[in-house]
Amino acid sequence: MDSNVPYWNPYIETLPLEQMQKLQLRKFKRILEWGFERSKFHKSLYDSIGLEPGDIKTLDDVHLVPKVEKSMMREIQRKEPFPYGDILCVPLEEVTEFRQTSGTTGQPVYQPDTWQDWEWWSECWATLLWAQGYRPSDRVFIPFGYNVFVAFWAGHYASEKIGCETVPGGVLDTEARILKMKEICATALMATPTYVLGMADTAKKRLGLDPAKDLSITKITCAGEPGASVPATKKRIETAWGAKVFDHVGATEIGAWGFECACQPGGLHINEAMFLVEVEDIETGEIINEPGKKGKLIITALDRIAQPCIRFDAKDIVEYADYQCDCGRTFRILKGGVIGRADDITKVKGVLLAPSAIEDVVRSIPALGNEYEVIVDKKGDIDEIFLRVEALVTSGSDLKDLESRLKTELRLKTNLGYKIELFPEGSLPRYEVKAKRFKDLRKKG
Ligand SMILES: [Zn+2]
Repeated sequence: MDSNVPYWNPYIETLPLEQMQKLQLRKFKRILEWGFERSKFHKSLYDSIGLEPGDIKTLDDVHLVPKVEKSMMREIQRKEPFPYGDILCVPLEEVTEFRQTSGTTGQPVYQPDTWQDWEWWSECWATLLWAQGYRPSDRVFIPFGYNVFVAFWAGHYASEKIGCETVPGGVLDTEARILKMKEICATALMATPTYVLGMADTAKKRLGLDPAKDLSITKITCAGEPGASVPATKKRIETAWGAKVFDHVGATEIGAWGFECACQPGGLHINEAMFLVEVEDIETGEIINEPGKKGKLIITALDRIAQPCIRFDAKDIVEYADYQCDCGRTFRILKGGVIGRADDITKVKGVLLAPSAIEDVVRSIPALGNEYEVIVDKKGDIDEIFLRVEALVTSGSDLKDLESRLKTELRLKTNLGYKIELFPEGSLPRYEVKAKRFKDLRKKG
């Protein structure tokens, strides 16, 4: 691949919208038929309203296909056969990848992929990395705890696919990661915006290093939370690192569907060759095609085959931009990236946090009272969660054990760390009607 070519796939990334939509319709009909013929779940979903794949004749017909919610995925996976229920569209022997969602909004959803799906994942990521200026001459460091979450796994393989030298930062701690990046003169890195800011802090305070001067990072790909699409945060990271910062958005159940290019157009390009995006008016349910109107993202992964993602209700709030990008890509832009969530679930340190998950833990421990408060705040650039809760025990060693158990169970359930404050029984505010247990102080100002 010639490093001077600005696109990973020049033909597809510059395809006029009209031709792109013809391609999308063809691919949509193909994946719909695939699900209808191979998965009991999809067949019965479509049968329930008397829909057959042949009924979809234009892109305007796509909204006739029922949406799939995350809660439905959980239900499916409780059914036989284990572990994917009746949605799987390929023989289990063809599944080569297992990942799962974080489970902070409930039971984690399993995500099977075939090797073909995995190639597709890395192709989506290769498209975005190339667009952000990654080239074979780059040495890419990935400070990510490789595990059951998909996060930067696909970024890793895409970086290799492009021809970059790819360095797994796996189990190293933050200081060791910074020193390794310095030692090997890494030129790019991928992480959540919170972690990227935290690394800069650690470099300065603990190692006496200024990332902008002492490291050779020129570009940073952020994912997992929307920070890199927030102008003030982007600027802060770019200043701290002396590097360009690019946003990327994806999800376990969907794939890597949106990215910022090197022109930083104030939003995310949709990878329209691989995904069909619909923006749905939250109140009326109508499909919004014009720019400047916010709605909910309904998305189809057009080429994913093991567990297809067809009209998935992503609950992300987005709006089309009314301008095109200077990069020459015809992929449309979502202005400001993902602007928010359709429900009030909040993200902390890049992880979705549902207050109900905390409640579940608190109420499952008999030595804790009923009253508690959760306060999310920012210390410097790092999110912190304070959990204030009443303890029904009083001895020092009991309190210590209780705190440690609470921390462990909260981490297991929500993948997050908490600052715990235990109070004597009866000292937290009581609510008569609707308790205000969750306060997100980051939203102020
Ligand atoms: Zn662009």
